[in-house]
Amino acid sequence: MSASSPLHQVVIVGAGFGGLAAAVGLARSRVAVTIIDQRNHHLFQPLLYQVGTATLATSEIAWPVRHLLRKRPEVTTLLGEVSGLDLERRRVLLDDGGEQAYDTLILATGARHAYFGHDEWEEHAPGLKTLEDATTIRRRILLAFEHAERETDPTLRDAMLTFVIVGGGPTGVELAGAIAELAHQSLPQDFRNIDTRRARIVLIEAGPRILPSFTPELSAYAKAALEQLGVTVELGRPVRACDADGVIFGDEPLRSKVVLWAAGVRASAAATWLGAAADQANRVKTELDLTVPGHPEIFAIGDTVTVNAWHGKPAPGIAPAAKQQGSHVAATIRRRLMGDMTSRPFRYKHAGNLATIGKRSAVIDFGWITLQGHFAWWIWGLAHIYFLIGVRNRLAVALSWLWIYTTGTKTSCLITQGEKKAAIQEA
Ligand SMILES: Cc1cc2nc3c(=O)[nH]c(=O)nc-3n(C[C@H](O)[C@H](O)[C@H](O)COP(=O)(O)OP(=O)(O)OC[C@H]3O[C@@H](n4cnc5c(N)ncnc54)[C@H](O)[C@@H]3O)c2cc1C
Repeated sequence: MSASSPLHQVVIVGAGFGGLAAAVGLARSRVAVTIIDQRNHHLFQPLLYQVGTATLATSEIAWPVRHLLRKRPEVTTLLGEVSGLDLERRRVLLDDGGEQAYDTLILATGARHAYFGHDEWEEHAPGLKTLEDATTIRRRILLAFEHAERETDPTLRDAMLTFVIVGGGPTGVELAGAIAELAHQSLPQDFRNIDTRRARIVLIEAGPRILPSFTPELSAYAKAALEQLGVTVELGRPVRACDADGVIFGDEPLRSKVVLWAAGVRASAAATWLGAAADQANRVKTELDLTVPGHPEIFAIGDTVTVNAWHGKPAPGIAPAAKQQGSHVAATIRRRLMGDMTSRPFRYKHAGNLATIGKRSAVIDFGWITLQGHFAWWIWGLAHIYFLIGVRNRLAVALSWLWIYTTGTKTSCLITQGEKKAAIQEA
């Protein structure tokens, strides 16, 4: 690679946090960039649970990639699903038969939730990763209330008003708190035949505590805060079975028509495309400089990789890690363009862990200090508004939160998509 090669082609697969950071980092470089994603939007996943629980609208947390990069004439945005690579010919292969040539490739294809070898559970217990997942979850939650309103069999009605969330990480905790507020605070006035305050929200965690990546004190606080919102927290018993009637955790069956999955992660197929070594979650084991072993022209970043870049431990699968890796790779490519081919290891800088419990409390672990309660919630809220893209979205989300905070009314209670009949069976 040299400065005299103006058409050096950088292809980025994935316009999530990592891919977009790489594209931003390559601004004003002498490269042609092509960014390929199977969806036309960049998604702010940390607030996805709020779309799933009728707090925010889809357009408040996602932006068309093409629009985000409109002021970068050297960047071409392509909508397409990558299905493989031709490493010899340096081509990205698309599932519709298309190809895209590259000189340098950045794979930033993320991860999805995993069912620990029980993929058949997905139909009954959707996970949360995409906007489609979020609207599916919202539809199932809202339809459960609708059907309970018409149900005369008390056992069935109880099953419709029992919401199970599997997995006590930040997403499970945030979902449980938001569903509890929806059922116990926002919806009671809207129904006549059911008392939505009687809805059961059960958070099941196989380990000994929720939020295991936080300190034990913050985990205990989060559990108590959830219980105050009316959530039952079940610890130490993994889910052993899951079907249309509910779950079995430990030896206990729990009837429920709405089970949500917030446990387990499986990386994209990037390791398979590359034929590269991967860990148990299928994450590519990259070199310390984020290149793929044996392929200095290919970088892999974000949730689809594992790299010991955090004081000898793997960098976590969170947005800041993906963004830092995208910036690191862009800097490496820029240096190579200047003729500097030295390799520099990526080092992850951790800013902290945040999780919210409902709309009034949160837990924050900055490493050097921990915060909990209402003050922590304000910091959580400000941080998330800051990281949203664009003034309009920041204002829109802040206004939605202010409205909910003061009136308790959720503004996005729309049941959309899905066949009417199928949706009734789903719920
Ligand atoms: C519900 C939820 C809540 C979260 N909350 C937080 C939080 O509060 N704080 C935090 O820091 N992190 C959070 N995370 C994690 C964070 O979102 C991820 O770590 C981050 O998105 C990883 O960035 P990435 O670029 O590796 O992948 P992603 O952002 O997932 O982007 C991957 C992109 O690749 C595209 N893609 C995948 N496969 C293909 C293909 N075959 N062809 C074309 N395109 C493809 C996808 O469409 C997507 O746009 C959360 C994640 C989830 C799911």
